[in-house]
Amino acid sequence: MKYNIPYGKQTITKEDIDAVSEAMTAPLITTGPKAKEFEQEICNYTGSSYCIAVSNGTAALHLASLALLKKGDLVLTTPNTFLATSNAIIYAGAKPLFVDICEDGNIDLDLCEQELQKNPNIKAIYGVSFSGNMLNQQKLKDLREKYGVIILEDNAHSIGAFQNVIKAGSCKNSDCSIFSFHPVKNMTTGEGGAITTNSKALYEKILSLRNHGMIKTPDMAPWEYEMRDLGFNYRITDFQSALGLSQLKKLDSFLEKRRNIAKYYHDSFKGTAIKPLYAYDEGSAYHLFVVRVSYHDKRELYERLLSKGVGVQLHYMPINKQPYYKSLGYGDEKLPVMDSYYHEALSLPIYPTLKKEEQEYVIRTLLEIVSE
Ligand SMILES: *Cc1c(COP(=O)(O)O)cnc(C)c1O
Repeated sequence: MKYNIPYGKQTITKEDIDAVSEAMTAPLITTGPKAKEFEQEICNYTGSSYCIAVSNGTAALHLASLALLKKGDLVLTTPNTFLATSNAIIYAGAKPLFVDICEDGNIDLDLCEQELQKNPNIKAIYGVSFSGNMLNQQKLKDLREKYGVIILEDNAHSIGAFQNVIKAGSCKNSDCSIFSFHPVKNMTTGEGGAITTNSKALYEKILSLRNHGMIKTPDMAPWEYEMRDLGFNYRITDFQSALGLSQLKKLDSFLEKRRNIAKYYHDSFKGTAIKPLYAYDEGSAYHLFVVRVSYHDKRELYERLLSKGVGVQLHYMPINKQPYYKSLGYGDEKLPVMDSYYHEALSLPIYPTLKKEEQEYVIRTLLEIVSE
């Protein structure tokens, strides 16, 4: 039997296709009633007061940054994320400062606190709940109370995650949170994203920025609108929202499968050279299953796995070392945990339709290669 197992993929069923087909024949196919309903359901699911659905996760980060930051603001963020997190800070004319990570792959919030003590001009922290593992909520709460710092949670990996009774996207201890619905994430709308917040002012600002900064007030004539800010077209379509609604209904069953797969990896790697990034956590949304492996040549390991049909990935290359960031003067930060993480991390296949025999093949193949 020849395998060809990707590290992640979407789960689309007939109900999803039917939901999209139905939305396609409605009178409005772009941002209309389905988008509103999708936003309402995300509020219900996460427990946030407000939600704005947008065209992708990067657009969500961009709009949130325009609403939260001013030009020149200093923002602490993580090198261990997709480019969009720190790019969004730059889109808003602000300046990212990269902070080292903890062993679990999330930004080190204790180091963030040291930076806040040293530099009172730091305005915000952009943290990522990496792999589906939420940022430490107690620590976020403390930092907000003590330093009045703005917190954005990039929950692109984490819809459905929880920590004690706090759900990802509820913004209990942050100003806003973003999701991505790219096909590789825990649920999809093709391309898509969302921002959640409990601030009405932030909600209204982001809502207008999604649509060119245009607003209508009740006393205006029906054909009039006013542009108060320089906004964008980051709208989501109604047929994408219909897909999102259909996927959201199945999200908990997707998560259960992801958690079972994660648990099985944990059990299978016990006592071996393969070290899962953190102890099994039923609150993690397990968008990624990252292990640490020490192997003499990472590229060789990657290629050998790929040649045997085991798709792996590396999340992530340190952003501060990207050529663009180097051209801005980044790259020489001392981030020792990130460096050793980057050396050893590997993301293994995890998605709801991964079969048990496929997972066993992944485990067997990886153990064989590293024990040679
Ligand atoms: C996927 C992702 C994004 C960007 O989302 P898109 O929908 O692809 O624009 C941002 N941050 C993180 C951590 C992501 O994984």
